Amino acid sequence: MKYILIIGDGMADDPIVMLKNKTPLQYAKKPTIDALAKAGKVGTVKTIPEDLEAGSDTAILSIFGCDPRTCYAGRAPLEAADYDIDMKPGDVAMRCNLISLDDSPFYISMRKLESHNGGGLTGDEADALIEWLFYDSPIAGMLYHDGMVIHPGHSFRNIVVIEQGEDKIRNLVLTPPHDHIGEKVDTLMPCGNPYSERIKNIIAQAAELLAAHPINELRKAEGKLPANAVWFWAPGTAKELPKFKDMYGMDGAIISAVPLCRGIGKLIGLERIDVEGANGELDTNYEGKADAALEQLKKYDFVTVHVEAPDECTHNGDLMGKIESIQNIDSMVVKRIKDGLDAAGEDYRMLILSDHKTLMETQGHAHGVVPYVFYDGRVSSGQGLTYDEKSAASGEYIDDGTKLLKMLLEK
Ligand SMILES: [Zn+2]
Repeated sequence: MKYILIIGDGMADDPIVMLKNKTPLQYAKKPTIDALAKAGKVGTVKTIPEDLEAGSDTAILSIFGCDPRTCYAGRAPLEAADYDIDMKPGDVAMRCNLISLDDSPFYISMRKLESHNGGGLTGDEADALIEWLFYDSPIAGMLYHDGMVIHPGHSFRNIVVIEQGEDKIRNLVLTPPHDHIGEKVDTLMPCGNPYSERIKNIIAQAAELLAAHPINELRKAEGKLPANAVWFWAPGTAKELPKFKDMYGMDGAIISAVPLCRGIGKLIGLERIDVEGANGELDTNYEGKADAALEQLKKYDFVTVHVEAPDECTHNGDLMGKIESIQNIDSMVVKRIKDGLDAAGEDYRMLILSDHKTLMETQGHAHGVVPYVFYDGRVSSGQGLTYDEKSAASGEYIDDGTKLLKMLLEK
């Protein structure tokens, strides 16, 4: 028996007027997922406890069976695990995004946040900006003074580690940038403790330095947003997670482009699989991920495929992209894996879900239940429901995401 978990990040949404009050999942054409849903069991699950922040960190921990109420100590250390950063007890990690602020000449707090990802900054451009800023510009001295070490992430996502920084993040409030697109930076600035002033200072100085960097001049000339600021968020301390094998008695692999998901996978003991061209964006290598899953299923009985694109599209306000990414997950990931397993004559069970809701209306994450589908190739439930928020509401409700994998893996 093979077990496959497919996470479409942030697929779930609310009804949208432009889609005649359908949600993107209802609107998208996804014949394979709907066929699996009709034969399988569709319902809703609460992946994030109400008192915790809604995001992939808490949701994906929960889906893997790690109760976020006890396992969660901030997001960045989970990502740091994927960079193979060795964090000692008491060390702290924070995310450092390259972001885009509007081009106005005002003081930083008066400027608006235009993009949480520096206008889709990737690869060498991202590394060049981060390395220049944190090693070769006047910022380097500030970082050294604070015991901060930057780990470039080959994208807009980077990690900063502060040795023995627990005191520095106590009561510190840092705001996730992707939940505040279009807002003035003013009310979003770090606050809550004295160290927040240091971070504010770094953000302000970095914005002045990055504005005139040749890479940003070039990006503007090409009609792209400049990655003209940095943003710190997601502070946390290192924490050990329960091991997948101890929880479920088997090993497995995880296929994802995003450090958060890969880091959680590493910490629970899943093998991380790299896929050429998998980038967490709409143009990711969907088929490559499906092929990698089929390959890993020769070695393991359990494989996770995580696709970030629906979430990224929603944060970018790209409704058509969100719909396209859902359709791509259907036609290039789910169908390809299903066809491969059918051809190989394998018995399999599949769980497909959105980890959390990401709303087009706010371009941010939201609490609330998300739809799931359990499919078992050996049996048909006869439930006949499609896979979307509305039809799932009439299916079984699971009150805690940590129950999901036990159900999938028949434990
Ligand atoms: Zn998100």
